[in-house]
Amino acid sequence: MLEQGKKEIIISWVGWEPLRKKDEIIRFNNHIRSMTINKDAAFFSNVITNGCLLNEDAVRSLYESGVTYYELRLDKTAHDQQRILANDACVFQAAEKNIHNMLKSELNFTLTIQVSITAVDLEFSFYDTFFPYKEDRRLLFKIIELGKCGVNDFYLLLQNNGKCANNTLKQHKEYLKSLGFTLIEEMKKGILSNGCYAASQDMFVIRADGKIGKCTYALDDENNNIGYLDIENNRMVIDYNAEDLWAYNPLDTACYVCKNLATCCNRSCPLEKQKNLGSNRCCINL
Ligand code: SF4
Ligand code: SF4
Repeated sequence: MLEQGKKEIIISWVGWEPLRKKDEIIRFNNHIRSMTINKDAAFFSNVITNGCLLNEDAVRSLYESGVTYYELRLDKTAHDQQRILANDACVFQAAEKNIHNMLKSELNFTLTIQVSITAVDLEFSFYDTFFPYKEDRRLLFKIIELGKCGVNDFYLLLQNNGKCANNTLKQHKEYLKSLGFTLIEEMKKGILSNGCYAASQDMFVIRADGKIGKCTYALDDENNNIGYLDIENNRMVIDYNAEDLWAYNPLDTACYVCKNLATCCNRSCPLEKQKNLGSNRCCINL
């Protein structure tokens, strides 16, 4: 990629709990970073984690390998029921302790705490514990409704028999704002900030089995299988026609007069576009 003139390499570690392989992440990051030296290229890395393995040593060594962004995902009611450590330890408390230690450090990272809630999550004291860091620009919050993952019956139970969490979402956001925290949605929207990485030609999802795809959600979708790692020959094999299904997004007539043009550019969710076969556009959720 560097030979083809790419100037920025970003590696995101996501799926299950990536920090179980912390040492491999560090080794890989260091290797890629060493390849960018003298190539006029920048290297960045980020991790999406449940936070329970993010202790002080891990944060420091990951930072030294180039990890400067973390998205720490917590579920309120669901967290310790869905995310259980082998020794039954409380994941939520471990994550909370690690967040505090991170924020005490001088390292220049960005940390987004994403909290997934259900309609019944009306307890806000978790946020109070971070009050001393309300002016720390490294810290952002993102509040979303609990996604449909894990066992269906469990999900439905948490959804309080289908009761919508919209009102609860609003209360969480208002509480955070009243304490002086920054919500990620309040950050200035940049060019393509509503675009999905799957819509970019330079982005690939490399899975543990060596298959290469575009979308991190539709993992069982055959269209999301666009290549593989050819380990013996040290190369990536990509079917670029298959990739076009995700990354070829010419503007539709409606896009030219759309208020979201700069942030979306017909790139919001290529998966939605494929499912919505009657439309050339992917703005269904915007
Ligand atoms: S895809 Fe939809 S939201 Fe995006 S620019 Fe086009 S019309 Fe606007
Ligand atoms: S579901 Fe849509 S927005 Fe999410 S990663 Fe896949 S293509 Fe992108």
